[in-house]
Amino acid sequence: MAHLHRVCPLCGTDNKVRPGSKYSKGEWKIKECKNCSFVYLENPPPYAELEENFAWEKTFAEETAFRRKRNPLLYWISTKNKEFKGKYLKRNKLRDLLKTLSIRGSVLEVGCAGGHILKSLGEGCVPFGIEISRQLARAAVKEIAGRGGEIINASSLDGLARFEEGRFDCVIMSAFLEHEVHPKEVLKEARRVLKPGGRLIIKVPNFGCLNRRVTGKNWCGFRYPDHVNYFTPSSLSAVLKGAGFSIEKFSFFDRLPTSDNMWLVASRPVR
Ligand SMILES: [Zn+2]
Repeated sequence: MAHLHRVCPLCGTDNKVRPGSKYSKGEWKIKECKNCSFVYLENPPPYAELEENFAWEKTFAEETAFRRKRNPLLYWISTKNKEFKGKYLKRNKLRDLLKTLSIRGSVLEVGCAGGHILKSLGEGCVPFGIEISRQLARAAVKEIAGRGGEIINASSLDGLARFEEGRFDCVIMSAFLEHEVHPKEVLKEARRVLKPGGRLIIKVPNFGCLNRRVTGKNWCGFRYPDHVNYFTPSSLSAVLKGAGFSIEKFSFFDRLPTSDNMWLVASRPVR
């Protein structure tokens, strides 16, 4: 399998001669950019492989089994922690955000997987999705049947290119940007397809979180080779501003150090 070679996706520096960071695993080289310190996978598999072989749920299952075997105690604690959150913190952050922001109209999810988020959108929303995995795209088509939208089975850049400027009221990227080989270019395209004032909602793992600092290599945010970008609150803000977005909501509570993920709402400036 021929791997891709990536320069730093944020600043363009080629870190080829730098040794892999301690987060590298097997053939997968995780680099820390010598110029901007961004952490990324340098040699991801090509897109064609992603279409079938690296559907995220497959590597997720493998990683889960691996974690359980390697450290049963840590696995038990993290499982209990998730159970606790599921039981007592039942709030659905995305649903709350969509409600607070009064999102209606055409909503595009980039990396929509099997369509569970699109399916849950309220009556006032017409769901559209882009998904690279053939299998997941097929599932998503069924989920949104009769809602007036469309699922495109393509890479995010190819999929976004099919929509005219100002097409959408909202773009969702939930657990997507960490997978995207060209995050800057995709964000610029997302800005283009949004109406002026339209919102971009992002959920992405927070490499700067406490759990990563404590558990190091064992952090649940590492998935090889699915996760290719490791954003911190500052690199996430920077890449969005660079793509021409205004950051609308990114408070302390949206990027709690105790959470593995962070949430951000940006918008396409009106002028
Ligand atoms: Zn860099």
